[in-house]
Amino acid sequence: MHRLSGPLPGPHVAVTALMHGNEYAGAIVLADLLRQGFVPRRGTLSLIFLNLSAFARFSPQNPIMSRFVDEDMNRLWDTDSATSVPRSSERARVRQLLPYISTVDRLLDLHSMLWPADPLILAGPSEKGVSLAESIGTPSLIVVDDGHRAGPRLIDLQHFSHPESAAQACLLEAGQHWTWASLRTTQQSVRRFLSISETEKEIQKSDALLKVADVTHRITAHTGHFTFTELFPSGALIPHRGTLIARDGHDEIRTPYDNCLLVMPNFRAARHHTAVRLARIRPAKAV
Ligand SMILES: [Zn+2]
Repeated sequence: MHRLSGPLPGPHVAVTALMHGNEYAGAIVLADLLRQGFVPRRGTLSLIFLNLSAFARFSPQNPIMSRFVDEDMNRLWDTDSATSVPRSSERARVRQLLPYISTVDRLLDLHSMLWPADPLILAGPSEKGVSLAESIGTPSLIVVDDGHRAGPRLIDLQHFSHPESAAQACLLEAGQHWTWASLRTTQQSVRRFLSISETEKEIQKSDALLKVADVTHRITAHTGHFTFTELFPSGALIPHRGTLIARDGHDEIRTPYDNCLLVMPNFRAARHHTAVRLARIRPAKAV
């Protein structure tokens, strides 16, 4: 964890990488900032490498194995983790970081995706997350969702999601793991995120054409045989209501409305894991 302080007073902002040990585009961007000796103009910037134990296991021969050591770190962000006896390497790390994270005013958590996908920002469950994602402005697709049944993500932490707290967080899914495109997307989003704090006027909305989509259904695999009818990329828009997109054992999964957006289909969803999220795009705001 690296804490960089600027000469002028300002908020505490944080960029986190390596929540998943094999998603290293974010770590490259943070390491570049450190190498360049980046100092914020105002406030404090924390650059946090989250799951170093998992990253230490990274092997190009089996890159998927180093996602975590014992359990998915991005399902453990609640106050239970702070008080209960840590039963895993990831819980111990979350417990160590929670008091510090609770001092952060604005956070961007950097990820990438296993399957081919357009980049997107997950704004989490609150409108505060949407407004942060809008001011970052890239990538242009913002997805509002309330996370996974398996447990809260960092961006779901009460500190960030509770309407009475001013703190904001969102999560970048930069594109497919280990691609140059994901690295470039991460660089752009981090640059935009840092520039918000540098100016610290009224947060400027980006001019880019942004699309905000609300997750309406989270489809969890109930069997070990969840299969999609096609290799849909994340961000695919299914025009017609009732289109068959997947089968879960004998059950058919069909789109519930026209222009249904598929968010991060998981082509190897194990039982009880999220297989895909379905989202409805909000009408463009009148200017
Ligand atoms: Zn991830």
